[in-house]
Amino acid sequence: MSEVVDPATGEAVGRVAATSAEEVDAAIARADAAFVRWRAVAPGERARVLRRFAAVVDAHLEELARLEVRNSGHTIGNARWEAGNVRDVLDYYAGAPERLTGRQIPVPGGLDVTFHEPLGVVGVIVPWNFPMPIAAWGFAPALAAGNTVVLKPAELTPLTALRLAELAREAGVPDDVFTVLPGAGSVVGERFVTHPAVRKVCFTGSTEVGTRIMAGCAAQVKRLTLELGGKSANLVFADADLERAAATAPYAVFDNAGQDCCARSRILVQRPAYDRFLELLEPAVRALRVEDPARETAEMGPLISAAQRDRVAGYVDGANVAFAGSRPDGPGFWYAPTVLLADSPADRHWREEIFGPVVSVLPFDDEADAIRLANDTEYGLSGSVWTRDVGRAVRVARAVEAGNLSVNSHSSVRYWTPFGGMKRSGLGRELGPDALHAFTDVKNVFIATEE
Ligand code: NAP
Ligand code: MG
Repeated sequence: MSEVVDPATGEAVGRVAATSAEEVDAAIARADAAFVRWRAVAPGERARVLRRFAAVVDAHLEELARLEVRNSGHTIGNARWEAGNVRDVLDYYAGAPERLTGRQIPVPGGLDVTFHEPLGVVGVIVPWNFPMPIAAWGFAPALAAGNTVVLKPAELTPLTALRLAELAREAGVPDDVFTVLPGAGSVVGERFVTHPAVRKVCFTGSTEVGTRIMAGCAAQVKRLTLELGGKSANLVFADADLERAAATAPYAVFDNAGQDCCARSRILVQRPAYDRFLELLEPAVRALRVEDPARETAEMGPLISAAQRDRVAGYVDGANVAFAGSRPDGPGFWYAPTVLLADSPADRHWREEIFGPVVSVLPFDDEADAIRLANDTEYGLSGSVWTRDVGRAVRVARAVEAGNLSVNSHSSVRYWTPFGGMKRSGLGRELGPDALHAFTDVKNVFIATEE
């Protein structure tokens, strides 16, 4: 049994039984048996099941959002978006089964055709920072392509995933096609990696665990998608709309209390605009409403745990703090949004993923300097470029080694466009049309036609 704690109050909100290794094996065996039936379901019927699942999620949007507020401390506004994202991702991939077509390739002496074959059981391992969307980014395309899914939520945040499993059943997703198995990464997650019937692992979380999972999957040449950490750059050129760049920068790093792999946690400002940018940033940070995440006005909630709060504080202690926002008193795992000035790109808070409401700022000289500093990291997930020069926007966006770049914007995620990292931020892409194929293997069949 593990206790689920409301991060805003520090109080227990539920107890969840951890799945044992034997129970995981039994669930994988059932998912493997269900695969034979699910892959044989007519594409139109598979699509209908996913659409019903989306409709049931839609009917429970507010309930899921409120549960997420207590499960993970997300603001109610964010949690509503997240529940809506599950619905949208299900609806989007519900359009896929009938469109998962192969090719006919001209060859002499016969007919050559390709099929996108589902893999079998897919194991989805979810972190605590976005429990609902990250789950859906794995299970929706996996199910649409004809796979069955076993899913492990993070131990800290299992409640919404368990509720989604109930809603799936209500929507008529057949037994054992989608199973949620709460428990420890070292038990449930490890078994997804080592069990031969799990044919693909979809992992989101730390680069450290992701690296170990990749090594484990190598033994079976198991298919793998990794969405790992980030230390993304927000590049602000002197010719940019500084007001807009500064007004939206807090959202880019303090949203979800900075527990976001896409957080633009390094702000680079061209030297002539450096002072002005900080002047504009300060009131935007101080104005952030950090409060009870259940309140409609909340813009930032607590961190996930006391351990995460202490970890974040460890980066700020001894660093050069420019200014900070507010945080409520009382229980709960609160940390005020904090802006640090980097003394050099060697600073620990500049280099390491903090995963909390802390952003570091550093000046740069010119375009080449900006690109060099942006790429001086092991990560490569996202980033922003602020400039009014179209040519520069395109040059810099192309030169930054990251999977998702935004120009004059901080948004990274749309369910119909690809999402994922370069370098040590990950492997493969989620969302969009390409993700679907990552849940299949291409089979080529040659049929001789010569007499
Ligand atoms: P994590 O340890 O990588 O955990 C992510 C998921 O993997 C959880 O469900 C976890 O289970 C599971 N897991 C842990 N060890 C495993 C193993 N050996 N085999 C299989 N699965 C395993 O991440 P975290 O502890 O939640 O966060 C630590 C740091 O990771 C953060 O501070 C941040 O830097 C980074 N992070 C990045 C993202 C992202 O979206 N890119 C998301 C979350 C965290 P348990 O619940 O039992 O731990
Ligand atoms: Mg961990």
